[in-house]
Amino acid sequence: MKGWLLLLSLGAVGCVTPLSSLTRVSTVATATARFELKTEPTATEDEARVRGALERSVAKLERWGNLAVAVTVRIAPTHLELERAVGRRGYDWLRAWARYDDLIVQSPGSWAGTDRDVDELIVHELTHCLLFQRSGTSRNWDTKQIPLWFREGMATVTADQGLRFPSLEDLADWLERNPELDVFGDAEQLSKEAYGQIYGTSFHAMRFLLKRVGDKAIVDMMAAMQKGDDFEGAFTRASGTTPKRFEADFLNYLRFRGFRGFGLKVRPRLRPVGPDTRPP
Ligand SMILES: [Zn+2]
Repeated sequence: MKGWLLLLSLGAVGCVTPLSSLTRVSTVATATARFELKTEPTATEDEARVRGALERSVAKLERWGNLAVAVTVRIAPTHLELERAVGRRGYDWLRAWARYDDLIVQSPGSWAGTDRDVDELIVHELTHCLLFQRSGTSRNWDTKQIPLWFREGMATVTADQGLRFPSLEDLADWLERNPELDVFGDAEQLSKEAYGQIYGTSFHAMRFLLKRVGDKAIVDMMAAMQKGDDFEGAFTRASGTTPKRFEADFLNYLRFRGFRGFGLKVRPRLRPVGPDTRPP
C-alpha cells in the first residue's frame, strides 16, 4: 500500500497521470458522511449507481461509528486503469482500492456488477476507510500494522459477503491439503493466487473474534490505535489475548472442526418401542 504514493508520483513524471480523465466532480452528502465523486464526463450511469451505493452504505457502517473525514471516490473506467492507479498487476479480482480518505472503484459497467454487487463493494471499501480514519490520522494511518485478516475480515463481515467465500468446512479441507501455508503471516502474498481462501479465512476469523468479544471491542481497538497504540497493543488490550494467540486459536478451531459443534447431544437413532413410549 505504501508503494502507491511512490508509483503515483512516478506515473506523473511519465506519460499520463492515472485517472486524469476524471474531470466530472460532484458531491454526495448524508447525515453522517460526505463524499466527493470524480468520474469521466460521459460516465453518468456509473456515477448514479455508485452515488446510490454510497448513500445506502452509511447505515451499515454505523455499527463501528461514522466516517470522520470526507472520502474522495474516483471511478476508474477500466480494470487496467484501476491497476495502473494503484500500482498492481495481475490482480484480476481487484475491483477497488481504499485508503484513509480516498477510494478508487472500477466502473461497475466494466465488470457487469449488479446493484447488490456494487452495494457490497462500496460498504466493503468504506469499512476500510472507516477503520483507517478511526485508528489513526491522515499522516500515520498506514503505520499501525493492521494485518490483512483484520482489515478484510472487518470489511467482508460489514458488507455481509460470507456467501462469496469458502465455508469453514471447505477452509478446513484446504488447510489440511496445504499444511505448509502460513495463512496469516503470508496473507498478502497468498491473496494474489488464493484470494477466495485468504478472504474466506479473514471473514471467518473476524466472525470468530466478534462472537468472543463483540462489536464494542473492535471500536475500542480503533480508539486505542488512535490514541497511539499499534495494532498488537490495541488488540491485546481490548480482547485479552494477543493477535498471535488468537490466530493460533482460530486455526485450531478450523483444524479440529470446532464449528461442527462438538459437545451437542446426539439423539439416539432408535427409540424403544412399547405402549408407554408411543407419542400421544
Ligand atoms: Zn478489502
